[in-house]
Amino acid sequence: MKKKGIAVYPGSFDPVTNGHIDVIKRAIRLFDRVIVAVIENPTKKTLFSVDERMEMLRAVTRGLSGVVVSHFDRLLVDYMKKKKASIIIRGLRAVSDFEYEFQMALTNRKLAPDIETVFLMPAEAYTYLSSSIVKEVVRLNGSVKGFVPRQIEARLIRKLLTK
Ligand code: ADP
Repeated sequence: MKKKGIAVYPGSFDPVTNGHIDVIKRAIRLFDRVIVAVIENPTKKTLFSVDERMEMLRAVTRGLSGVVVSHFDRLLVDYMKKKKASIIIRGLRAVSDFEYEFQMALTNRKLAPDIETVFLMPAEAYTYLSSSIVKEVVRLNGSVKGFVPRQIEARLIRKLLTK
């Protein structure tokens, strides 16, 4: 398949899960470059700082050629224009994601008609997985093996359980 252009995969990634990694791997098969872009939103409370989230993303995507990790704090479409990217990647898990994603995609289209949103579905095993559920399980001392890479689980344990 001929690959096309630069795509941006925006998200909180607080922290990155195997679901996100699955989406990144699917995206890189379709596009020349995938910029995984951490949203810097001071009003949204996150467990990890932007730097920590980028560091974790870099660690788990090392070895995936064509993937770069970055961050942005402005309107997504403005950031994309600066990066000369024309595709937004979003993951779709269940129907519950649909309404929000639909609203975002159409808003972004209104703001920038040339930018297209592409939705990718993860492997079935990850369709119920979210960063929030992973944090909740670790907080309650459960194992998140299979949900996040080992190094991310270690970071979560350090952050949530060692005071
Ligand atoms: P946001 O706060 O923007 O929703 P997330 O980091 O939670 O940020 O998610 C970024 C994108 O990845 C969203 O499109 C979300 O639907 C998708 N995503 C999150 N978890 C998964 C998963 N397990 N499988 C597929 N896509 C996912």
